[in-house]
Amino acid sequence: MELTSTLSQNSTEEKWIKTPLIISGPCSAETEAQVVETATKLSQTGKVNMLRAGIWKPRTRPGSFEGIGAKGLPWLQKAKQLTGLPTTVEVATGKQVYDALHFDVDMLWIGARTTVNPFSVQEVADALRGVDIPVLIKNPINPDLELWTGAVERIAKAGIKNIGLIHRGFSSYGNTEYRNAPMWHLAIEMKRRNPGLPIINDPSHICGRRDILFEVAQQAIDLGFDGLMIESHIDPDNAWSDASQQITPEQLLLLLNEIIWRKEDIASEEYHAALEKLRQQINHLDDELMFILSQRMKIAERIAEYKKENDITILQTKRWNEILDRACKKGEKLGLSKDFITKYLDAVHLESINHQTKIFNA
Ligand code: PEP
Ligand code: MN
Repeated sequence: MELTSTLSQNSTEEKWIKTPLIISGPCSAETEAQVVETATKLSQTGKVNMLRAGIWKPRTRPGSFEGIGAKGLPWLQKAKQLTGLPTTVEVATGKQVYDALHFDVDMLWIGARTTVNPFSVQEVADALRGVDIPVLIKNPINPDLELWTGAVERIAKAGIKNIGLIHRGFSSYGNTEYRNAPMWHLAIEMKRRNPGLPIINDPSHICGRRDILFEVAQQAIDLGFDGLMIESHIDPDNAWSDASQQITPEQLLLLLNEIIWRKEDIASEEYHAALEKLRQQINHLDDELMFILSQRMKIAERIAEYKKENDITILQTKRWNEILDRACKKGEKLGLSKDFITKYLDAVHLESINHQTKIFNA
């Protein structure tokens, strides 16, 4: 298929997808006409390179539409024949893998509710043994990088060469801004650990609503994501699932046109020279910070000697509150958020306690 190449996923620079990978299509396949019409309009945008549709829908509560089932697969096949768009569906069981393969689906993805369950991921992996098809793996609904990594390992062990990641946000109780909070630092850490795996973003399931899709999509591109999966529907308000987050193919085109597409690098000497100069300054400041921190620990150790001599506890809550309060006020004037100062001092304090404990135990 056009999207893939024979490039190894172990290479850090070359990924197996053509970027940006733009996947779109309805949350759920509903009728043949809906799938074909959506695909036709998406293909006319000239920006979408893959058609998605949910065939089996894992719904949180029973009673809502749980997917049209295998009956929808020939519709996708037809949409592909008519538009040339390769197709992708979510699979959660071995049977679903066989059905999807039987109807020439080009790529599979594992949904967030499946990534959390090693039994299910293993079942999908077993069904994939000996099959050459790319697989994208969504993050688990809970913020657990080990589960996400475990799913990647299971699929890789089944012999799948082309694996990618989808960041679709993480579920948290009582969150009202997002349906699934993005937690970018976790996606970034996953990218850092797996430089060879392309990672795309799913703003639809992060936002759960249309009005903030653009800003999340732009942020993902700013952070170097390799593409987007955005749900689209010819009549979003009347969609059978996820109605509030789907947009029309026309709205999708507007959104994609508005995005500033970033590249990882450019071949400009001037740019590299300017960046290098600033990076040297950062390195220098980091060195200074570390030196200052080590001096701070040495003073903490001297304090520990006094405390030890006088049988005083290491932890002094009053003093700790004083430090926090002082630093937050000072930090604010210097443009450093209270949240950052608190996290930073927490780490410094913990290290200081470790140094003092060593003195106490010496
Ligand atoms: C979906 O993509 O339609 C879906 C069910 O997403 P998630 O697995 O992210 O909830
Ligand atoms: Mn959906």
